[in-house]
Amino acid sequence: MTATVVAIDGPAGSGKSTVSREVARRLGWQLLDTGSVYRAITWFGLQRGADLDDARAIIALMPAFLDAWRLSLDPDESWVRVGDDDITGDIRTTEISANVSKVARIIPVRDAVNERFRELLFGSAAAGIVAEGRDITTVVAPDANVRILLTADEAERIRRRQAELAGDDAAAVAATVAARDARDSQVVNFTSAADGVTVVDSTHLDLDAVVDAVLELIRERSGS
Ligand code: C5P
Repeated sequence: MTATVVAIDGPAGSGKSTVSREVARRLGWQLLDTGSVYRAITWFGLQRGADLDDARAIIALMPAFLDAWRLSLDPDESWVRVGDDDITGDIRTTEISANVSKVARIIPVRDAVNERFRELLFGSAAAGIVAEGRDITTVVAPDANVRILLTADEAERIRRRQAELAGDDAAAVAATVAARDARDSQVVNFTSAADGVTVVDSTHLDLDAVVDAVLELIRERSGS
């Protein structure tokens, strides 16, 4: 059984991926990036020529996907594979980001991946694991040792995404972030903290300060 499970949720551009990776690194723990799985399903659907708006078609692809999907939990060496394809880079394109909410809204898809997430979270021999996403604190692991909602003002989140995607049209990036949050929040609530979840607002904090705040919470809650 995994000794300590840390759940971190937050919207696009809240910094949760970077923060979660850095926290896992510093503690020598594992990292579970749950968004990468929804992205990989989107990639798989597009590659198979499926209509992503057709929930039944996507549900039908799930057994083949789950069979072929592999994910690294090493924060220093992240990769996602489907069969022989390494799709680590391919799942970060604007095309995938623009379409991922279509598969993420399908409840049987969520149920299937959540089951895998729980196996990875609670079945690992690692000393600890940090899982990040939208519904980790509420649905996937409401019994995690430490539960955090990482937020930032929308303007700041858009600014961070624009910095990441240098070269892309700024207005288009802003529209994409806002539209994805709006679609995602119809399925899971990641804008307000559930009972027992600590909010960390990163709007005015740099990466180191957020990482320190999260490490402090982990120390308080788990004695790690
Ligand atoms: O975190 P990231 O931006 O990579 O997530 C990609 C997408 O995956 C989100 O926009 C959302 O549609 C979906 N997602 C989700 N539940 C999670 C993690 C991600 O629905 N726990």
